[in-house]
Amino acid sequence: MEKIVSLCKRRGYVFQSSEIYGGLNGCWDYGPLGVELLRNIKEQWWQSMTSREDVEGIDASILMHPRVWEASGHIENFTDPMVDCRECKARFRADQIGDAPCGSPAYKGRRASKCQAEGKFTEARRFNLMFKTFIGPLEDSSAAVYLRPETAQGIFVNFLNVLSSSRQRPPFGIAQIGKAFRNEINTKNFLFRTREFEQMEMQFFVPPGSDEKWFDYWKEERLRWFLSLGMTKEKLHFHRHDPLELAHYARDAYDIEYEFPFGWGEIEGIHNRSDFDLSRHEQYSGKSMKFFDEQTKERYTPFIIETSAGASRSFMAFLVDAYREEEAPTADGKTETRVVLGLHPRLAPVKAAVFPLVNRDGMPEIAREIARAIRPHFRVFYDDSGAVGRRYRRQDEAGTPFCITVDSQTLQDQTVTVRDRDSMRQERVGKDGLVPFLRAKTA
Ligand code: ATP
Repeated sequence: MEKIVSLCKRRGYVFQSSEIYGGLNGCWDYGPLGVELLRNIKEQWWQSMTSREDVEGIDASILMHPRVWEASGHIENFTDPMVDCRECKARFRADQIGDAPCGSPAYKGRRASKCQAEGKFTEARRFNLMFKTFIGPLEDSSAAVYLRPETAQGIFVNFLNVLSSSRQRPPFGIAQIGKAFRNEINTKNFLFRTREFEQMEMQFFVPPGSDEKWFDYWKEERLRWFLSLGMTKEKLHFHRHDPLELAHYARDAYDIEYEFPFGWGEIEGIHNRSDFDLSRHEQYSGKSMKFFDEQTKERYTPFIIETSAGASRSFMAFLVDAYREEEAPTADGKTETRVVLGLHPRLAPVKAAVFPLVNRDGMPEIAREIARAIRPHFRVFYDDSGAVGRRYRRQDEAGTPFCITVDSQTLQDQTVTVRDRDSMRQERVGKDGLVPFLRAKTA
């Protein structure tokens, strides 16, 4: 993990939030390459959902009517058990102490589980993870609102709107990507558990009785999505929630877990939420959330199959999965270790880098002209500084799948070399054919 965190900073993937002020715990900023990778992940997800004829998209506001969170059960149930160490005053999530470090500088290196075993902890108290704020100038309880802890509720409360404004009828889904906020007791493992993050959620509304079929369908579909973007099959598995683990709304639930360097961790949850959500919103809002099927003349509350992925957690899983170190030959016949981010070309932030082999004989001008011609179609990076081998290594580490080099042969026959990041093989391509070449390779 340390290597990945440091690469993220070095190459401009992720920075600590408010770093010059010492950082803000559980918050991270995406740098020039990170923002592109995150956008690409979200774009791939959005495409995979909304290119279907049975899924519509929405973008609901982050602040919602406070009754939403009563209906959803978040006010009552969205809590984690919290314990304090009487000695060092550090605070922990009681069910996740594991190997968390003790908060006392006097006990450097000690694990909090030891302090727990020694009876230093208070009884567990329930702590609600929703961030509370106030709408308007008065900070009283009637003005309290919450930063949404999940994007799903924005979809449920718009169910009737989408139904009446689109031509959809169950089974159909609503997709949304957006920020969510959780005041996690302990943030950890870089982007894995943060206080502000993004979710990619799709809620699929189905007639009761067909829920199990659709649950199985979406479970497989979502795993396939991660695999289609190059994630290693052996590093992904399903974890089924046992009855005690199930959330208050869930009938059945599977997590897609990825094997991070710190162990298996959930990157997406697929839940059969039954008719819990629409029934509760019907009860709390007084509006019927039922669907009337004209053909069968039946009126029913649709069941919901939820696919809920973390964009930020997926970002980290894609990064971890792509990172490798390998021995590679140098120009003088030796070998050196090269760091490669083998991101799928569709996810790679920059699709190609363009280099002049040397800074003379008109090569920089031709290379710049090539970069200018490609830029309207793909993100490209121009670099003319240092030995070409070094420039390749920098791009390998940044995850750029192709490096285009202008050399002396270009001056004679208008071809350039295109080097493949993974195989390091080079081929000659006519400079006017670069856009179609890249389009075919990054599609
Ligand atoms: P966990 O058990 O890890 O807290 P969860 O079961 O509460 O997660 P869900 O409520 O199912 O998570 O949220 C769906 C997805 O949102 C998760 O699979 C994860 O990718 C993402 N997610 C949830 N909490 C966080 C967080 N604090 N930081 C980053 N991503 C998160």
